[in-house]
Amino acid sequence: MNDDRFSYAPTPVVTRPKRVAVSGGAGFLGSHLCGRLIKAGHDVTCIDNFHTGRHANVAHLMGSDRFHLVAQDINEPLGDELGRFDQIYNLACPASPVHYQYDRVKTALTCAMGTWNLLKRAATDGARFFQASTSEIYGDPEIHPQAETYRGNVNTVGPRSCYDEGKRFAETLVTDFGHQHGLTTRIVRIFNTYGPRMHPDDGRVVSNFIVQALAGRDITIYGSGEQTRSFCFVDDLIEGFIRLMETDEEIDGPVNIGNPNEITVNELAQQVIALSGSRSRLVYHPLPIDDPRRRKPDISRALTHLRWSPRVQLQEGLERTIAYFNAELHGNSVAQRG
Ligand code: NAD
Ligand code: UDP
Repeated sequence: MNDDRFSYAPTPVVTRPKRVAVSGGAGFLGSHLCGRLIKAGHDVTCIDNFHTGRHANVAHLMGSDRFHLVAQDINEPLGDELGRFDQIYNLACPASPVHYQYDRVKTALTCAMGTWNLLKRAATDGARFFQASTSEIYGDPEIHPQAETYRGNVNTVGPRSCYDEGKRFAETLVTDFGHQHGLTTRIVRIFNTYGPRMHPDDGRVVSNFIVQALAGRDITIYGSGEQTRSFCFVDDLIEGFIRLMETDEEIDGPVNIGNPNEITVNELAQQVIALSGSRSRLVYHPLPIDDPRRRKPDISRALTHLRWSPRVQLQEGLERTIAYFNAELHGNSVAQRG
């Protein structure tokens, strides 16, 4: 994946700054997106209800007079006092199974009502709208790797349904609302992403394994550990977001963004142990209901339309993430660094 034809330079500082809203901007991905947009010279309004987001994630941006933090739930309409936006990124939604299953009705409604509220605002402002969707819309896939044309295999009434079906509905709403109101809309299907500022308690596999390894605790493998995922480093993902939002090319439908490097959960555990120098043991727990067996993105669309592919190899990304958690756990927080 280090093909030079698809390598990218950092986003240049823009000549015409835009007013950009990022819902969920105090979360893991949102805080990286806000940082990139501020660096590029835009005026950024971060809208977050701090359900899973943290002030520490955006503390390093608070000194900028182009960064505005608004504590608000997107299930409530945005007030006019926020001003007009050129672009709206909708990332607001808990993303880890532990968090999105905490209040399943709220998760489903955030995908529906929250997205609708932001779309209405985009229509009023004439803003371009970006929806963070997910590989979970493919459910437990019968097609491998998953291209955007695959329609998925999702349980409508399982513990993951509030999120999977919520995000599927949001894709429909964004698409139909965009057509009916003449809005430019973008939908990204994000595959498992990791990196600094993941919440240490959010239960996702990369953060769990690193925190367990650094603390010398048992590494918890669910099921046999032979299920696969494909992990994308956060910097690569955010580059893909910005390219998708900024392109004026006609993009019809969702675009997968993720790293096609597929590994088993067992292999991930071994790699985390090796890179962190840990002596943790592996322990096996039951597999959660409806846990997908395999997942790997087909990124042909992103290559063709955005000339995007991931650059950060898993080893480098894990080393950077381990360094982050090491500092967090030992009281030398790096959450605020760019
Ligand atoms: P996160 O939990 O760190 O961030 C979500 C943010 O949204 C948090 O700051 C939270 O407080 C905020 N939020 C939640 N509900 C809200 C509401 N009703 N109103 C306002 N703010 C609200 O998760 P993340 O990993 O940064 O994910 C961001 C987006 O990307 C989510 O939409 C998620 O579904 C999507 N996504 C992430 C991944 C991944 O691997 N990280 C994979 C697929 C999709
Ligand atoms: N997983 C695991 N141990 C953990 C956390 C997760 O083995 O401590 C597994 C989980 O069952 C799944 C994979 O790792 O098969 C990825 O889980 P995660 O919650 O990170 O993402 P998702 O299931 O949403 O892809």
